[in-house]
Formats: sequence, structure tokens, C-alpha cells
Amino acid sequence: MNFKCPHCEKKSIPAAHKLGATPATPAQCLLCGKLSSEPIGGRALSALLFGLIPLVVIFYALTVSRLWPVYTYFGLAVVGAILWFILVPLRPVTDAVHEREYKLRRGIWIAAGLFVALSFLMSALGD
Ligand SMILES: [Zn+2]
Repeated sequence: MNFKCPHCEKKSIPAAHKLGATPATPAQCLLCGKLSSEPIGGRALSALLFGLIPLVVIFYALTVSRLWPVYTYFGLAVVGAILWFILVPLRPVTDAVHEREYKLRRGIWIAAGLFVALSFLMSALGD
């Protein structure tokens, strides 16, 4: 199953590439080679659907001592995620946006690495 490229309008993007395509790690069209990603709101939406709301549902299920709200919720959330995957089209990503997002992500990893290295150094010097 392939998805439509927003640049050349051909169904040339494999499903595996669409899954989790972001501006930093975009999907590449097999025909025109241009980049695309899921809409920006997708990440926030899935964090809400699979992160925050389940906590509330599980808390509710515990208070009523019934498991059906949990099963019902996850059933609906999974169906919603699959529908999103199939129905929501990819958005075009320009090289400039990709470059910026990639650098931003790399910068965050470098900063995190430096922080961990510094923490080790500080604790080693402290002893
Ligand atoms: Zn294309």
C-alpha cells in the first residue's frame, strides 16, 4: 500500500515510510525524491490519545472496578490511529525545513550528551 506524494501527486510513498514521518525524518518520494511528513499536529495528538487520556480512563476504570472503559478506549484509539494513518495525507517538506529540523534535533542530542558527560565529570570530581 503506497501513499500519495504531495509534490508529484503519484502514489509513490511506501506505508512504512509514512509511519512516523516528521520534518526531521521525512518520507522520501520514490519517483521525484522530494520530502514529506505527517502534519505537525499528529505528534501532539498521538501524545494526547496514547499518553494523557489513557491515564484518566484507567483511573476511572479503577474507581468503578470495571475494565470495559479501558478496552473500549484503546479499541477506539487504535481505530482512530489507523484511520489517521490511512486518511490524513502527507504534507510537503522543503529541503530548508528538513535542514532546520534536522539541525535542531541534532543540537538537542548534542546538548543532552554534553549534559550527561558534564554530570559524570562533576560527580567524578566531587569524589
Ligand atoms: Zn513525488
